[in-house]
Amino acid sequence: MSGPGPDRVSRVGTKSTKGTNSETRILLYYRFTRIADPTAVMLWQRTLCDSLGLRGRIIISHHGINGTVGGSLTAVKQYIRRTREYPGFHDMEFKWSPGSAEDFPKLSVKVRDEIVSFGAADELRVDEHGVVGGGTHLSPAEVNDLVEQKRDTGNDVVFFDGRNAMEAQIGRFRGAVVPDVDTTHDFLRELESGKYDDLKNRPVVTYCTGGIRCEVLSSLMRNRGFTDVYQIDGGIVRYGEQFGDSGLWEGSLYVFDKRMHMEFSEDAASLGTCVHCGTATHTFHNCANGECRDMILLCETCADTPSTAHCGKQACATTVS
Ligand SMILES: [Zn+2]
Ligand SMILES: [Zn+2]
Repeated sequence: MSGPGPDRVSRVGTKSTKGTNSETRILLYYRFTRIADPTAVMLWQRTLCDSLGLRGRIIISHHGINGTVGGSLTAVKQYIRRTREYPGFHDMEFKWSPGSAEDFPKLSVKVRDEIVSFGAADELRVDEHGVVGGGTHLSPAEVNDLVEQKRDTGNDVVFFDGRNAMEAQIGRFRGAVVPDVDTTHDFLRELESGKYDDLKNRPVVTYCTGGIRCEVLSSLMRNRGFTDVYQIDGGIVRYGEQFGDSGLWEGSLYVFDKRMHMEFSEDAASLGTCVHCGTATHTFHNCANGECRDMILLCETCADTPSTAHCGKQACATTVS
């Protein structure tokens, strides 16, 4: 699940949508490749999506494309075929997901400085093969092998969470380091803070939902002296599809759609706890104070009780009561 704007936390949607229709699909995709004229690609993509009746969000930059679109099965197939005609996108992978155009309010196709906002547009280097100087790509099985192999050398693998700290509250790799970030923009500050300097000579496996954030993050880490950096192909999603809850992943996966979280099996560990009473939960809620943008973990009881349906900050508690 690596649609545009993973650094942006959506409010919980209230719109009800119909069940999955077998005639419609959502596509999720990204590709790092040099795009000389992002505006031309944006206009072409906008016209293409309009003509096919697709809705969703697409971001294009000099470094590539990141999109999520939904529509009829025929339309999304056409979209893939036409999009792959662009040389830089010819081998782009598309992840299929249940859903339709109705899951998006409209079509948005935009040019930005970055397809994932790390605030590192001038630093990131891409060529026709993708990001230059990123971490070594590992398949899920290779992640497990690396952990075994490094354990034998006495220099254990460290998992490094490439998501917003909030997402890690309900699930993360075993023993992972979770940087103190509210948005991906905070990573540069964190990496340069000195807090993680002890990891510079350790094997570090970065991970995020679908892999896109680690493409950038792992290259920023290598540029800052982290010497042995890896990333998981397909991110947590692919690792979980392969190993479920019997591998090194623990808990629920935060997802950027109305589901809010997903589990890989019935055995998923429950890592999150209600901010008010400590009951196990993996359900995020908007703070009851409409002015507050915080999303917090609340148990059902606290969420249903007006006096506790807030994030815990004094200002919000006062506003709500
Ligand atoms: Zn509670
Ligand atoms: Zn609040």
